[in-house]
Amino acid sequence: MATVGGNRNGVHRASNLRTSSSFKSKLPPANVRRSSPASIGGVAESGRVRVAVRLRPRNAEEQVADADFADCVELQPELKRLKLRKNNWDSDTFEFDEVLTEFASQKRVYEVVAKPVVESVLDGYNGTVMAYGQTGTGKTYTLGRLGDEDTSARGIMVRSMEDILANISPETDSISVSYLQLYMETIQDLLYPANDNISIVEDQRTGDVSLPGATVLEIRDQQSFVELLRLGEAHRFAANTRLNTESSRSHALLMVQVKKSVPGGVDFPQESQNHSSLVGNLRPPMIRKGKLIVVDLAGSERIHKSGSEGHMLEEAKSINLSLSALGKCINALAENSSHVPVRDSKLTRLLKDSFGGTSRTSLIVTVGPSPRHRAETASTIMFGQRAMKVENMLKIKEEFDYKSLSKRLEMEIDKLIAENERQQKVYENEIERIRLEAQKRVAEAERSYVEVLEEEKTKCQMDYMESIKKLEEKWTFNQQKHAFNGENQAYAGGEEAAELKRLLQNEIRLRKAAEEENHFLKNQLLKFSKELESGNANGFSIQEVLEEEGLQKKKLEEEVRVLRSQLAQQSIEANQSRSYPERGNSGNPLLGIDSLTPLNDLRSRDGNNGERASIANLHEQVGLHKILSLLESEDANVRIHAVKVVANLAAEEANQEKIVEAGGLTSLLMLLRTYEDETIRRIAAGAIANLAMNEANQELIMAQGGICLLAMTAGDAEDPQTLRMVAGAIANLCGNDKLQTRLRSEGGIKALLGMVRCRHPDVLSQVARGIANFAKCESRASTQGTRDGRSLLIEDGALPWIVQNANNEASLIRRHVELALCHLAQHEVNAKEMISGGALWELVRISRDCSREDIRALARRTLTTSSTFQAEMRRLRIEV
Ligand code: ADP
Ligand code: MG
Repeated sequence: MATVGGNRNGVHRASNLRTSSSFKSKLPPANVRRSSPASIGGVAESGRVRVAVRLRPRNAEEQVADADFADCVELQPELKRLKLRKNNWDSDTFEFDEVLTEFASQKRVYEVVAKPVVESVLDGYNGTVMAYGQTGTGKTYTLGRLGDEDTSARGIMVRSMEDILANISPETDSISVSYLQLYMETIQDLLYPANDNISIVEDQRTGDVSLPGATVLEIRDQQSFVELLRLGEAHRFAANTRLNTESSRSHALLMVQVKKSVPGGVDFPQESQNHSSLVGNLRPPMIRKGKLIVVDLAGSERIHKSGSEGHMLEEAKSINLSLSALGKCINALAENSSHVPVRDSKLTRLLKDSFGGTSRTSLIVTVGPSPRHRAETASTIMFGQRAMKVENMLKIKEEFDYKSLSKRLEMEIDKLIAENERQQKVYENEIERIRLEAQKRVAEAERSYVEVLEEEKTKCQMDYMESIKKLEEKWTFNQQKHAFNGENQAYAGGEEAAELKRLLQNEIRLRKAAEEENHFLKNQLLKFSKELESGNANGFSIQEVLEEEGLQKKKLEEEVRVLRSQLAQQSIEANQSRSYPERGNSGNPLLGIDSLTPLNDLRSRDGNNGERASIANLHEQVGLHKILSLLESEDANVRIHAVKVVANLAAEEANQEKIVEAGGLTSLLMLLRTYEDETIRRIAAGAIANLAMNEANQELIMAQGGICLLAMTAGDAEDPQTLRMVAGAIANLCGNDKLQTRLRSEGGIKALLGMVRCRHPDVLSQVARGIANFAKCESRASTQGTRDGRSLLIEDGALPWIVQNANNEASLIRRHVELALCHLAQHEVNAKEMISGGALWELVRISRDCSREDIRALARRTLTTSSTFQAEMRRLRIEV
């Protein structure tokens, strides 16, 4: 025997025990569960073969036979030492990975010897638990006890399966078991005894050995496994009987194949917590194939001892071939020999991976206490000591689970396809949304473009119109200038001469009338003188008449004085009175925006609200005739008062007829003619304007030469209010269809136009009203066919003023002028002059911009019905 004895204190230790840490690099990966602290040597991860020694208690026979002797071994479990007595005073000490006394429970033995191996098997390593020792020392007790009657007696096989079953998932993992006996180099199937010569097949490439002929049973639960063990045991017993041998001479091998699947997955980088991301390391599913071999070796006692039992020596050699081959291999491995005779026996071939291979291996050596078997015990201890030096290279048996990998990849692909489709859909929706949005924006842009274009077009047209207008004006101006300078120069002069001639004729007529009257009076005077000279009664009567006249005059003067004081009195009364109600306007046709209100003006300027009541009283008391006669009073104050009274009365329509009948109109006209006083003229003109509201009066005014007088006043009056009254009176006359020609021939239109020199808007407003009235009457007459030819307004040169004021700031003026333009434009005969005078532009403007719908419509209608305007508009490219 090799290394008996040893170091100074006599402790034998496997030489490479302390270098076990060098095997750490070959340890299982981090996810392998750690063994309990009670595991062999406390260094569960080492690849070295772990060896424990177990002492069987004395059996009944030994208790008697060895009663006077001490045990041949003494255990120091806390030091993991075993002392083997040499004699009464000397012993050898051996150190093991674990020392299990006779009191060690089956549970503890399992935990320190087998559990770490079982755990490794579950992690995908091969594992071996083997018992070595002399027959009867407890190998089968340690490994194979089923624990039927006492569960605490369950051996390593049963407990291993319990642990394996507890750590697999029946859905994905599997356990399969073979149970074999090796006897005289023959492998027999303990699960199927007919199978009594199973051959070992070695993979040429990997060197792995397998037993394809062995029965392999799937294990689903502990019960069926225990049944399997029981069956195997029974078959072992039967076979041994048949072979006329003992189980102690055969090796029993339980092979448990554990296939455990490790699900795949995706490992995401730590910073990315977003697992919805599809990017990560794909971890494929794996299958771990761990194989556990539990070997209950034949008894290690020497053959000569059992030779007594009748076996031939050769046979005995054959029986122990495997065991001695195992010893040789372990020796070779322990000594790091270059040659390990693995192929020498079937046992060493089967345990190729267990010693010097990749398996995690635990060996339990069993010894008995009897000093009679000291030599066998020593041999067993030495076997264990050598085995402790064997280093294995643990290697995980794990392979890709391609089937489930492909299944999982298919699922991944399906998921990705679904995701892709979803994203495609989202993308398409987004594209559609963007397309619609773009369409909408294009439509909007087109719309605003069209609007801007339209605006630009209108603006351009207006600019164009403006420039054409200016050019036309310039052209007209040049034409006129040219004409003036040329042969037509005489025309203007001729017109002026005609006007002068007309005035001259008028003057001649008036002079003639005056001469006639003078002549008549002269004749009368001559006649009276003759009568006076002849002294006839007529002379007396004339004197009487003169005296009568003088008296009458005195009486009248007296009356005037009375009236004046009454008037003053009434005025004071009226002033004091505040209780008079507001005068109603209903009776006054002059009120309203298109009308004159001379009375109101008179009242506000020259009197007060109470004056009217006193005037009414006066009128009642004195009588109209007397008031009218006062208009010719020599006293200027009287005349002023009288004209005020008349004007006020004339404001009432009811009085107008009476005033005219009583010769008031003639008197008022006389005042215009005779008096230079501005106040009187203003009030008289106002009164005439009021009377001119009435159609019958209009004719009378006309008949009495009123136009001439009004024209005269229009020509020399300065006061805007006077002019306003005069213009109002003429404007009223302009509205009379019958008087059109006469009004014009007596200078009414020219008088009207002349008044525009006063820029007062009130005056302009009346002028515009007059022109509009006149144009309206002309238009009516033309439509009725009672007149033809160019408008007299145009003839009299009203057009430039009309065009100039068509867009006057004052709405009242503008409206009259707009209407006048529309009326003038009704007749084709006016069109040419209107175009050359620039009226077309104004009509176009009115048709577009006028705030009054009816005027706008009238302008548009007029423009569209006139062929001349149409042609011009076409020429100028103007659209209405
Ligand atoms: P082997 O298999 O090594 O030949 P066995 O397991 O058959 O030995 O054991 C021989 C006898 O010793 C059996 O009767 C067994 O019950 C008993 N025995 C063995 N080991 C122990 C132990 N640790 N405690 C009690 N009895 C034991
Ligand atoms: Mg046995």
